[in-house]
Amino acid sequence: MRKPIIAGNWKMNKTAKEAVELINELKPLVAKSKPEVVVCVPYTDLWAVKEAIAGSKIKLGAENVAWADSGAFTGEISADMLKEIGVEYVIIGHSERRQYFGETDESVNMRLKQALAKGLKPIVCVGETLTEREKNKTKRVLKKQVLEGFKDVVDFTDIVIAYEPVWAIGTGKTATAEDANKTIGYIRSLVKKTWGAEVAKSLRIQYGGSMKPSNAKELMAMRNIDGGLIGGAALKAQDFASIVNYKG
Ligand code: PEP
Repeated sequence: MRKPIIAGNWKMNKTAKEAVELINELKPLVAKSKPEVVVCVPYTDLWAVKEAIAGSKIKLGAENVAWADSGAFTGEISADMLKEIGVEYVIIGHSERRQYFGETDESVNMRLKQALAKGLKPIVCVGETLTEREKNKTKRVLKKQVLEGFKDVVDFTDIVIAYEPVWAIGTGKTATAEDANKTIGYIRSLVKKTWGAEVAKSLRIQYGGSMKPSNAKELMAMRNIDGGLIGGAALKAQDFASIVNYKG
């Protein structure tokens, strides 16, 4: 019922020239893909990638969006700027933004509301750190991130949540499929309690954190897992395509 969605997060990797090379290699490999395929790329790659993916199934995403329409926000990028290029998806609240750039649940909420108001589809990242996990605070942390991050949001149609345990991002450590499924089940139950059963049933929730060709099938077989947000493995066409084609 929920269409799986596999999204690449390129982070701060690939010049525009390298981006086009990667897309050209990727395109034939995902031509028959069943899941929705998205690449979230650096701002400077957006135009080139938009042209490179033309006629393919790959959709275009950005890695952040400003909460304001325009103005004195040096270094930010507006929703209109992204929309004009043809961006469809946008990552909001990635743990690297939270860790290094002061992103908070409040700023995530502001960016999310702006994305929705402007017709961008947000991929909102939540997840606990290793310390929080070791202190048994995972549920408490996720509850705060979800309730504050999604405050005042009523329509979840275009929203994707990415559950990314911070300790699993870029570390090679993956949550076990059972663990990821259970935690995503908790997020779904939170959504159900606050926004209702229908929203919870149709909301797509991805897993992210060292997802790779060797573990994609097992993770994707889980009832609550509707896709993946892929960092490192999204930078290699063969690896990303293997994840997209996890069903074989
Ligand atoms: C990410 O950055 O969202 C991510 C999941 O990274 P990696 O796949 O490299 O762990």
